[in-house]
Amino acid sequence: MLLKRLRELMAEALEPQERLDRIVREIAQQMVAEVCSLYVLRSDSVLELYATEGLNPGSVHLAQLRLGQGLVGTIAASARALNLTDAQQHPAFAYLPETGEEIYNSFLGVPVLRAGRTLGVLTVQNRTMRHYREDEIEALETTAMVIAEMIATGDLARLTRPGLELDLSRPASFNGLAFNDGVGLGHVVLHEPRVVVTNLFNEDSEEELGRLTESLDSLRLSIDDMLSRRDVAFEGEHRAVLEAYRMFAHDRGWVRRLEEAVRNGLTAEAAVEKVQSDMRARMQHMTDPYLRERMSDFDDLANRLLRQLLGRGPDGLGEALPRDAVVVARQMGAAELLDYPRDRVRGLVLEDGSITSHVVIVARAMGIPVAGQVKGVVSMAENGDAIIVDGEEGQVHLRPQSDVKAAFAEKVRFRARRQELYRELRDRPSNSKDGVHVDLLMNAGLAVDLPQLDESGAAGIGLFRTELQFMVAATFPRAEAQERLYRDVLDAAGPKPVTFRTIDIGGDKVLPYFKGALNEENPALGWRAIRLTLDRPGFLRTQLRALLKAAGGRELRLMLPMVTEIDEIVQARELLDREVRHLSRFAHHLPTKLKLGAMLEVPSLMWQLDELMAAVDFVSVGSNDLFQFITATDRGSALLSDRFDPLSAPFLRALKQIVDAGQRHKTAVTLCGELAGRPLSAMALIGLGFRSISMSPAAIGPVKAMLCELPVADLEVCMADLLGHPNARHSVRSDLQAFAAQHGVPL
Ligand code: PEP
Ligand code: MG
Repeated sequence: MLLKRLRELMAEALEPQERLDRIVREIAQQMVAEVCSLYVLRSDSVLELYATEGLNPGSVHLAQLRLGQGLVGTIAASARALNLTDAQQHPAFAYLPETGEEIYNSFLGVPVLRAGRTLGVLTVQNRTMRHYREDEIEALETTAMVIAEMIATGDLARLTRPGLELDLSRPASFNGLAFNDGVGLGHVVLHEPRVVVTNLFNEDSEEELGRLTESLDSLRLSIDDMLSRRDVAFEGEHRAVLEAYRMFAHDRGWVRRLEEAVRNGLTAEAAVEKVQSDMRARMQHMTDPYLRERMSDFDDLANRLLRQLLGRGPDGLGEALPRDAVVVARQMGAAELLDYPRDRVRGLVLEDGSITSHVVIVARAMGIPVAGQVKGVVSMAENGDAIIVDGEEGQVHLRPQSDVKAAFAEKVRFRARRQELYRELRDRPSNSKDGVHVDLLMNAGLAVDLPQLDESGAAGIGLFRTELQFMVAATFPRAEAQERLYRDVLDAAGPKPVTFRTIDIGGDKVLPYFKGALNEENPALGWRAIRLTLDRPGFLRTQLRALLKAAGGRELRLMLPMVTEIDEIVQARELLDREVRHLSRFAHHLPTKLKLGAMLEVPSLMWQLDELMAAVDFVSVGSNDLFQFITATDRGSALLSDRFDPLSAPFLRALKQIVDAGQRHKTAVTLCGELAGRPLSAMALIGLGFRSISMSPAAIGPVKAMLCELPVADLEVCMADLLGHPNARHSVRSDLQAFAAQHGVPL
């Protein structure tokens, strides 16, 4: 009955205050309560009385309580209902004289929730000492949901006064980690947008229950279906998440609460939203990271169910993508990021992720500022909210106030001026202060990266990740498509050298359409990269042939990922020789020079450095993987992402051994992991003797600015001293920072 009346009230053309007044009157009548009041949370954390039936009408918009103050403040702060027979006995009771509420004894209050956020509090009061029943609580909660909708759609905005806006527009700042430099100002695009439910009331509860059951069934089926697929895309962590989904989808408590809400008159989708909101608000105060993680899984599941009910696919990118999109996601795949038009994306914010995860590498290649591990941002952000990502500090400002916005606009201008300086450096030779030349190369992987070669002033492409083409495609790229991309890359590079890496899939890089992968417990240590391609030589041969053809008449530099033993290089060289013979038999134009190198990413190579240097034309250290394997630290783990420092003596000593072995054998050594792209760690590498490093294009300017002021000879002495110290167990980061400060080296 109450819901029916509410539905009528919502449909009537009323002024917002009038509508609120009629709603509270209606609730009071239906619940046989003498009082019904609505408090709305303002951006200054004060709950303001917005409407009342029964309390002094003159106190509307005057009576107020702080968050946590009184019963109403307690409900808002805890996001939990309070049901009291004798309210005045409650320790939190605070008497507001202007309302004249002293004569009421029993009290029921529920939070007004939306997407897990508290927007206000709805209360009823009676003179008699009564205890409100479960169904009454339920009814009040449902009404609160209707009010939440009014608040969220901006209906009440006209009732606010300047400076006392509603909490929905409250600014929020988050501290995460800096994953990619740069500052982005724009508007939130939730990668997995929350489905907004506007149709709240059902016409026929029985029919609606049928809809709910049907959707739950197909949800369960779709999860089972995904679990039964043996794709690489659904292995590892992803699988664990799906297992959790399956468990939740069968959770009886959840299903019972959903059904109850439908029986009380809500549509199935409104029921999903209500149950989810209650649950989120309750879980918000939990600190246990495991439970919070599970809550996010539940959120995802509820979203899936909503999409089922509303018959929507997992869209993500509506047509209405703003021109200044800041994509906000819990986590996402590299290919998903590439689905967004580059010219509209100003930034990326991830709740999880780590600096070497693939999506971050892609974002870096695209020059998008990224903040990662920004906890709680997904549930606080709404599509279209103004947002600032500071990829330099790892901070995010949601719905920033105008002064914050102005400060960041200034920061953007400042950075643009600095970029201008880097551009001036572009054509300067990359020599140190004392005249030591260091090749600064860039990493790339897609055609979109190519213009950066000129813009950054890079000396060439030190790492071309060929697997990206495979990762962003829906099916295996054909030989012609591979050849075309390689040719475009070489054309764009002109006289600058390009090093192509043969396909490196497995681990965190998955091809959704590749059905050959096994269900591995440790994919990072599994059947991946050169291991996989040597077992599937057809794969590798097609790629080698495309590369050889594309490089006809010029130099071809090739390198092999994840080499563990020398024999793998020997086998790959045999395949390469065969392809060369094959092409020359058919009178193809062959490369003028062919150089084969290996990536040093697997620690076993550290104890066969002499054999390695003799077996190849060059070695490129993949510091992302080498560090992951030396320290036994999953490079994608959010929990471990800054636990161990690559600028520590053990890792730097390993790198030094590689440089020394290269010098002994006159084999060129370079490094192409993320380590090369930060001025401080690039400085450390130069101090170890690296004279060629490859990084994301945006890093070239800052690294070159550092190099130009660097006294390399002094640094080498300092480095040798630091690493030669018998007690050098710790990070040398601060020593290097001190060196830079002392010599005026800009970091
Ligand atoms: C590395 O491991 O350091 C590397 C450059 O390769 P990727 O990041 O593509 O694994
Ligand atoms: Mg690697």
